[in-house]
Amino acid sequence: MIRIGPAGSFGLGNLEGIGHAKELGLSAFEVEFTYGVRMSNAEAKKIGALAKELGIILSVHAPYYINLNSVDKEKIVASKKRILDSCERGANLGATHIVFHAGFYGKIDKETTYQNIKKEVFELLKTIKDKGWSVKLAPETTGKGSQFGDIDELLRLTRETGCSICVDFAHIKARNNGKIDYDEVFTKLKAVKHIHAHFSGIEFTAKGERKHKLTENSEIKELIDYVKRYKANVTIINESPDPYGDCVKTLKLI
Ligand SMILES: [Zn+2]
Repeated sequence: MIRIGPAGSFGLGNLEGIGHAKELGLSAFEVEFTYGVRMSNAEAKKIGALAKELGIILSVHAPYYINLNSVDKEKIVASKKRILDSCERGANLGATHIVFHAGFYGKIDKETTYQNIKKEVFELLKTIKDKGWSVKLAPETTGKGSQFGDIDELLRLTRETGCSICVDFAHIKARNNGKIDYDEVFTKLKAVKHIHAHFSGIEFTAKGERKHKLTENSEIKELIDYVKRYKANVTIINESPDPYGDCVKTLKLI
């Protein structure tokens, strides 16, 4: 099954944004807490009820200011609070995946970074379980070489902690000079029953991601062809500057 939806409401607000997604024939929507979790649980419930009524599957993007590998312990505490606040709102929204960028390597080597982040993810998962929130913690494949989160690191994290994953195909390209080997990626993702994904065009430099841009039809078609070839069960959240427009373009190419 392929579900398509926008990242955020494009300024419409979540309620109207979800309604607009439905009108366009979309079936997913990612609530963006990009610059902070500014939503009450009551509001989350209201938004969740509308999405349920309209058959729109919700997910959440946690704030950007997160580093579970910081040398500053206070920053780790603040990062975890942002993720857990997102999870709590997510539970009230009835959202599936809580997406976040896990952190930066900084001056720490990759294996130690992995172990540091794994320890924090375990703690986050324990809190989610204790609180009874039925959401999936989904660290995202990141777009820069300085950020933790290539697909191998994240798949190892899913195996060793039981967390989920968000696969941003545009970020994978940006990390690899614009190249993506979809056969390799979908083969690696075989064990993931439902792939929560991000997609868009992307501008990059040697250091990786610069910014998301409009999604070309050829890029969409290439991804959809592989999704079909691998019979992947996938939700594709479009993160371009025109997420609704690019979702409609995607629908036409399915
Ligand atoms: Zn993304």
